[in-house]
Amino acid sequence: MATQKIIIAIDGYSSCGKSTLAKQLASQIGYNYIDSGAMYRAITLYFLRHQVDWSNRERVLEALKDIHLSFEYNAAHGRSEIHLNDENVERFIRDIIVAEKVSEIAAIKEVRTFAVAQQQKMGKKRGIVMDGRDIGTIVFPDAELKIFMTADPEIRVKRRFEEYYATNPDITIEEVMHNLELRDYIDSNREESPLRQADDAIVLDNSNYTREEQLEKVLQWVTDRVGSTQMA
Ligand code: C5P
Repeated sequence: MATQKIIIAIDGYSSCGKSTLAKQLASQIGYNYIDSGAMYRAITLYFLRHQVDWSNRERVLEALKDIHLSFEYNAAHGRSEIHLNDENVERFIRDIIVAEKVSEIAAIKEVRTFAVAQQQKMGKKRGIVMDGRDIGTIVFPDAELKIFMTADPEIRVKRRFEEYYATNPDITIEEVMHNLELRDYIDSNREESPLRQADDAIVLDNSNYTREEQLEKVLQWVTDRVGSTQMA
């Protein structure tokens, strides 16, 4: 029996492990993983590189016309990576310089309209796992499975610090903590699609789960949803 493909939306605060879970889940069930945050980061990288004045709506609209985003599979890394105008920018978008500005840029209405339209197109055939901040509320309000992730702030800071430290040993834990707090604040308080838990989302607090335990739990939720979709 052919299995009906669904959309899985994973939202939550910064550094809760959304992308780790989304990646593992997608590979386990043969779905495409889409990192919506990478799109906002790539747009931010473009704005920084081209010194776009993002306080000016016209400049933003002009710049967006010159931005082409795509995800290309990188066999060596076993994952899809974001390309900005055909350049693989995966390693640049993870830089703290981008992290410091991304929430400001992601709060701009025109930027969100641009990114959300592309995200919705990617979900046309379903069979995707997408993580972000507004996936279950705005991008795919009809997603069959919505997960809202949280984790203790100290655990989140520690995880992100270790990630940054690998490429930037000068980084301090205070810098990382400040960046996470600032992004969460802007993401939760912006006017355009603020970070919210969808009414029908399942909350997953992964502070005390191993990756394996977490995956097992979510796989069960997927099975429950796919089963009920087939029966519908
Ligand atoms: O997920 P990640 O931490 O890479 O996202 C970077 C930033 O992009 C977030 O802090 C947020 O400002 C923005 N974002 C968003 N909506 C999404 C995904 C990310 O506003 N769906």
